[in-house]
Order: sequence, then C-alpha cells, then structure tokens
Amino acid sequence: MDLTWVEAYRRAEDRGALTVRPGERLLAGGTWLFSEPQPEVTGLVDLTAMGWAPWELLPDGGLRLAATCTVEQARRAPWPSPALAELCADALLMSFKVQSAATVGGNVCLGLPAGAMISLTAALAGEAVIWTPGGGERRAPVAAFVRGAGVVDLGPGEVLRAVELPGSALRARTAFRRASLTAHGRSAALVIGRREPDAVVLTVTASVPRPVVLVLPPASPAHAVRRAVAEAGAEVGWYADPHGAADWRAAQTGLLATEVHAELSEVAA
Ligand SMILES: Cc1cc2nc3c(=O)[nH]c(=O)nc-3n(C[C@H](O)[C@H](O)[C@H](O)COP(=O)(O)OP(=O)(O)OC[C@H]3O[C@@H](n4cnc5c(N)ncnc54)[C@H](O)[C@@H]3O)c2cc1C
Repeated sequence: MDLTWVEAYRRAEDRGALTVRPGERLLAGGTWLFSEPQPEVTGLVDLTAMGWAPWELLPDGGLRLAATCTVEQARRAPWPSPALAELCADALLMSFKVQSAATVGGNVCLGLPAGAMISLTAALAGEAVIWTPGGGERRAPVAAFVRGAGVVDLGPGEVLRAVELPGSALRARTAFRRASLTAHGRSAALVIGRREPDAVVLTVTASVPRPVVLVLPPASPAHAVRRAVAEAGAEVGWYADPHGAADWRAAQTGLLATEVHAELSEVAA
C-alpha cells in the first residue's frame, strides 16, 4: 500500500546515516512496513543501501546472517544441513516474490510469534548483533531479544546489524514440527529441537508470545516433556489470535514437543 504520510526517503550508505530523525523509520524489505497504514511515519531510511554481504562464514563454521539478508538468500546460505532453514522459510508461507524482499532482520525486529526467522535463529542459539547509537555494539541471544508479541529489545536509535549462529549449533541434529489451523495457514505452534551431547534443546515459537527454550535430558519420558512444555507455556502465557485459540495451541505444542524430543533422543548427538 502507499504510505501517503511519507514525505522523505533516504538511502543509508554508511553507519552515520542510520541515525533516524523524528518521524523516520528504518526500511528493510518493506513487506510489513508497506502492508498497513503507518500514519506516524513521515520518512524512510533504506537499510538495504548499506550493502552488507547477506551472509559470512564464522571461524568456528558458524554463519553470520546480515539483518538485510533476505529470506530467499538465507535459505541458500551454506548451511551444513539446509533442511531446517528451508522448513523455516516455507513456514512463512510467503510467495517467492515476498521471500526475495523480506529480510531476516525485519522478521526478527517485528517480533511476531509466527516469525519463522526468529524460530530458526533462536533454535540455533543465534545471537543478535545490535548497533548502538554512537558507534557501539551489543549482543543478545535472539531468544531473549524477542520479549513479547511485537516487542523486541531495541532501544532508541539501535539497529539490528546481524544474527550470528555458532558452528556447533549448525552441525547439531535438529527436528522440526509445525501446526497450523489450515494447510496453508500461518504457524500456530512451531517446535524445533537441537541435539546437544547431553541434552535436547527445544525451542517453542508461534504458540507463545516470545521464544521459549527448554533444555531437557535425552532420556526424559514423554509425560515429562509435556509437563515441562505446559509449565513453560503457562509461565509466559499461551498466545491466541485468529490463527488459533490458546488451549488448542497449548495442546498442539505439547504433542509436537514430544515428537521432536522422541526423534532426537533416539539419535546420537
Ligand atoms: C504474504 C505475507 C506473509 C507473511 N507471513 C508472515 C509470517 O508468517 N510471519 C511473520 O512473522 N511475518 C510475516 N509477514 C510479515 C513480514 O513480511 C515479515 O515479517 C518480514 O520478514 C519482514 O521483513 P521486512 O524486511 O520486509 O521488514 P520491513 O517491513 O522493512 O520492516 C519491519 C519492521 O522492522 C524494522 N526493521 C527492519 N529491519 C531492521 C533492523 N535491521 N534494525 C532495526 N529495525 C529494523 C522496520 O523499521 C519495521 O518497523 C508476511 C508478510 C506477507 C506480505
């Protein structure tokens, strides 16, 4: 949609240009920004002009995804095993046109429960690299960076620069389950498991307002997995919207979590 209140557009080509003025908003892929009225926005600052490489390899075999890396570029990054990235990209249920514009950073900064780039990066122990005003940088785990539905840990003038995924997490075995009210509907519950040497790490998104990470022994029986998920979900509150009621999401999440845990407890780390 046209943003009829916007009077100015500028390309940010260096870090100094990222300082937003009153009324300005950072623009990444624009797939959300242009999807609804933004009456308070009078100017756009285009982050994609920074020219960041979509991804870089880290010395430990990990990946650094630039905030401006598109969902399409992310699925083609050199993952040791690309299946999880592809499943998460597909969980967004966007057309290929939207996937080639929507960015990892835009998805993470929106902080929506169904943000599948949040699911992917939180499940792989991702760390958000945040540029602070004045030239500094700070870091936060993605699972903590997203604080609630649409609420993220970004202060005034801060910009998400990248998300770093450690090599150990990328090499780990993973399992993925997703539930939705309809075959092509938005994610209502999404559970990703990662096998660590002595634990199964479950990351729950979509059914909760912010990512929930549970570290469980591989030998946990199904009832213990269900109980741990139920308690963690009750603590943050089960999310409800037109894509699913809270009690249904809670039940689905418990089921998916036991499946993911069972799949990963059977394999060696
Ligand atoms: C058909 C369709 C389906 C969709 N399905 C889903 C879905 O299932 N789940 C979901 O979560 N979303 C969905 N969306 C919403 C949206 O497209 C995605 O979340 C997308 O990843 C947003 O990325 P973007 O680059 O387009 O962000 P933009 O629209 O450019 O920006 C989004 C917000 O993040 C801010 N921002 C962007 N980058 C940064 C940064 N680096 N630092 C600080 N702030 C930043 C912007 O200022 C803006 O407020 C869908 C959209 C469409 C059109």
